[in-house]
Amino acid sequence: MAEKSRTQMKRKEKETTEVTMDVKEVKNEGEKAVEHDKSPSAEAAATNGDQNGDFQVEPMELPPFETITGDRVDPFVFKFQFKNVEYSSGRNKTILCYLVDRGDTADGLLKGFLEDEHAGTHAEEVFFTQCLPHCDSAIKCTVTWYVSSSPCSACTAKIAEVLKARKNIKLTIFAARLFEWEEAEIQAGLKALHAAGCKLRVMKPLDFSYTWDTFVENDEQPLNLWEDCKENYEYYHEKLADILQ
Ligand SMILES: [Zn+2]
Repeated sequence: MAEKSRTQMKRKEKETTEVTMDVKEVKNEGEKAVEHDKSPSAEAAATNGDQNGDFQVEPMELPPFETITGDRVDPFVFKFQFKNVEYSSGRNKTILCYLVDRGDTADGLLKGFLEDEHAGTHAEEVFFTQCLPHCDSAIKCTVTWYVSSSPCSACTAKIAEVLKARKNIKLTIFAARLFEWEEAEIQAGLKALHAAGCKLRVMKPLDFSYTWDTFVENDEQPLNLWEDCKENYEYYHEKLADILQ
């Protein structure tokens, strides 16, 4: 019994590692679901990444800032997860790229990315517990996220709570896609987030290029935007405007 509860505590302490474990556990299921939708190279890259542990974030091994900062997203994973298709079959993961600007403090600028599966602790929550656990309330903190999809309703509530409690944090979220935007509770969550001062945007073609240049292992190659990128942006942009008006 004692052994078991110690293990549970340890698991709790290592929450982020657990996220990584969840990623591995759920991966097979995810890959099966997306076979028709995922290019062979993307699948191979994802599989390799899994085996080598290349693109897994393991923040608990080192202090969080050092681990997450400087990591870049696998290009195949980016192209799959950030593609702004209307029906995001198989994309049951959120990739969250972040920039944190704390003015001219010693560790002023933070940059990195987090990824999760919807089965584990969501990247949005991990960001506030791991990347920005403390933030001097006297220092203005400008946070920008580029996420593969907009937050679920549980996360919108959590983010809104953080923004109300920590007034010095200004958050802008650029989302490639709107997650389950037809659901009433998702729409209510996005409205609550907006009311809490969060700026919500749908990623434009230029934002995809910027995210690619800034957060992806791009081999200094530019991003070739997919054919309907602009149309899909316009579609989601209109939906978001309808929800927030
Ligand atoms: Zn969530």
